[in-house]
Amino acid sequence: MPDAAVPFYLNGLTIKPGERVLTRLVISKLPSGTVIDVPVHVLRAIEPGPTLLLMGGMHGDEVNGIETIRRLVRREMLTPLRGSIIAIPILNIYGFLNFSRDVPDGKDVNRSFPGFPRGSLAGRVAHRFMREIMPLIDYGIDFHTGGAQRANFPQVRCQLGVDPAVDAMAAAFAAPFTLHAGLRPGSLREAAQGLGKRIIVYETGESLRLDEAGIEEALAGTLRVMHHLGIGPAAPPPARPGIICRRHTWLRARFAGLFRAHVENGQFIEKGQIYGSVADPYGQQAVRLESPVSGYVIGLNYMPVVNQGDALLHIAVPE
Ligand SMILES: [Zn+2]
Repeated sequence: MPDAAVPFYLNGLTIKPGERVLTRLVISKLPSGTVIDVPVHVLRAIEPGPTLLLMGGMHGDEVNGIETIRRLVRREMLTPLRGSIIAIPILNIYGFLNFSRDVPDGKDVNRSFPGFPRGSLAGRVAHRFMREIMPLIDYGIDFHTGGAQRANFPQVRCQLGVDPAVDAMAAAFAAPFTLHAGLRPGSLREAAQGLGKRIIVYETGESLRLDEAGIEEALAGTLRVMHHLGIGPAAPPPARPGIICRRHTWLRARFAGLFRAHVENGQFIEKGQIYGSVADPYGQQAVRLESPVSGYVIGLNYMPVVNQGDALLHIAVPE
């Protein structure tokens, strides 16, 4: 753990315990010459303690995390009692401007860690983060949403059963669902784990749509993690116990056509239950879809036009 009593050196600044700073990390310039910089809030208590990263908008169109961090800042919920908080509402400014998950060259920042200073744009964003932010943090919550018109029910994703500190952090967040998710090559979580930092991912809703219930879960879960780490005051417990699932699977379209779901996100479905239908658009044929497993619907495709193999439903199988 970095010694929280010493200054943070970030973006050419010296940030001492007890200070609050909003600094802007310059990343590069747009073709127009406009400077692209990433605003970073740094909030430090006098008392030493761990440093927690809150990060949104690594995928620029995933607005729920951006809105979550905006509310935490606006409501002044990020004043640490001990330790420090680093809050980055939007890491991928390019994607945010273009309503896109990726940076303009089509690359995914969350597959580009640890990055390279003279690499592609996504790799440069990742590298800047690794150099300036990663050395300062001990823990992190990385906020995401579903993509491509698939909505996620509020869920934490992390590697379960590997590091007790990660398991405890996910338990403290107490999202409606906690899923085991292996490390993706080039992801922030993978880069963090290699350095002994603990990062969990929170997912809710879909890209370019605000999911009010999921944002409220995110606010409450973040406050519980802050309390768990000794950074924040006591936080209200969750309304209901979270459900932990090591196994989860996507049900995919076997036929192309028009998809209609007969279930809702968050709902439990039984093996053999009809969860939807795929029909040809000409009124000639309709196929009812039977679930091959029992479990909770934690992701749902809202795009009615589907091709063979498209993901329709994400099912989590409880322990
Ligand atoms: Zn994402």
